[in-house]
Amino acid sequence: MAKRRITKQISVGGVKIGGRDNPVIVQSMTTGDTRDVKTSIAEIKTLEDEGCEIIRVAVPDMEAADAIPAIKSGINIPLIADIHFHYELALASVKNGVDGLRLNPGNIRDADKVREITEAAKKAQIPIRIGVNFGSLPPVGKIGASRGGRRVVDGVNDLPTIAEAIARGDDDAYTVVDHMVATALWEISVLEDLDFDDIKISLKAFDVETTVEAYRKLAPLVPYPFHLGITESGTVTTGSIRSSVGLGVLLYDGLGDTIRVSLAGDSREEVKTGYEILKSLKLRDKGPIMIACPSCGRADVDVLALTNSVEKFIKEVKTPLKIAVMGCEVNGPGEAKDADIGIAGGNGRAVIFRKGAKTKIVAEADMLDALMQEVRAAEAEMAESQA
Ligand code: SF4
Repeated sequence: MAKRRITKQISVGGVKIGGRDNPVIVQSMTTGDTRDVKTSIAEIKTLEDEGCEIIRVAVPDMEAADAIPAIKSGINIPLIADIHFHYELALASVKNGVDGLRLNPGNIRDADKVREITEAAKKAQIPIRIGVNFGSLPPVGKIGASRGGRRVVDGVNDLPTIAEAIARGDDDAYTVVDHMVATALWEISVLEDLDFDDIKISLKAFDVETTVEAYRKLAPLVPYPFHLGITESGTVTTGSIRSSVGLGVLLYDGLGDTIRVSLAGDSREEVKTGYEILKSLKLRDKGPIMIACPSCGRADVDVLALTNSVEKFIKEVKTPLKIAVMGCEVNGPGEAKDADIGIAGGNGRAVIFRKGAKTKIVAEADMLDALMQEVRAAEAEMAESQA
């Protein structure tokens, strides 16, 4: 895996994003009406329980902006206001104590209004995420305000002007990726020209290749942290797969400081999938990882029933343990030995492993209980060692 890209560190509420060592942060967005304070708080609390670290809410009107203080008082994670077009909603959201804004200065249009917003954000010390989205790109030719100077940020390369940046691409074909990158550079230049650099960027498309190429192309050109996402990626199953592929490639490249898995479904699934992606790449620890054999004709025990039972049980486990559930003696012992705790079936019995060593052999009827006991013992040991 590539080394993480070093970016400018920003802070959303108390959550640090980017820099050298901060973890990749998991975000989500509420699905309900922001004006309904009670429902918004209830949804955000369930997301907090899943590990959501920053939440975004749509602010389509003043009533939604005015709901921000009440929502904030009922939650424990930073809140970002998602604004389109209306500068007065951005100003009201800042005044109402929001921890970050997601808006594109380009679609506010009026330079004085953008100045007012950036001054308010600067005063409140909150960042702005520029969210370039394939579905709402400005027409080609409508961008191009030149990026005057060069910015140098500690540990990040000397940056090119927008003209140099675009010239680095393929001039023969101005692709949608070029246009996304050029749009991002233009939006960034609007804020930089106002001496505002508390910025985070996203470049989202439904198409995985477009998204990946856009982030890759922008990465060497700006110092700002990236918020990753595959937009409108689909329902829980298809969207999780599409997001995992896109975000997986980018994170493996070392890109990405925060993520959101956008799913048409229960927002808790966004957070769960986000953590599974990060855990797969060893970028975050959160609860156990289960290695489960898919079962086949060699299975010596009912491994699928066991896997389902273990999956239910480990939902309550907070310790980052690697747990292997294997059905037979072919691959079973190898995987089970490599895990913190493993179980491998064999002839109506099961062997339990702890850190590679056999601890016991139990009858099939007792294997779930035996595995649960080992997990609880491991949890207790880890808690004691950290005390
Ligand atoms: S571990 Fe054994 S039972 Fe499970 S899939 Fe592999 S060969 Fe089949």
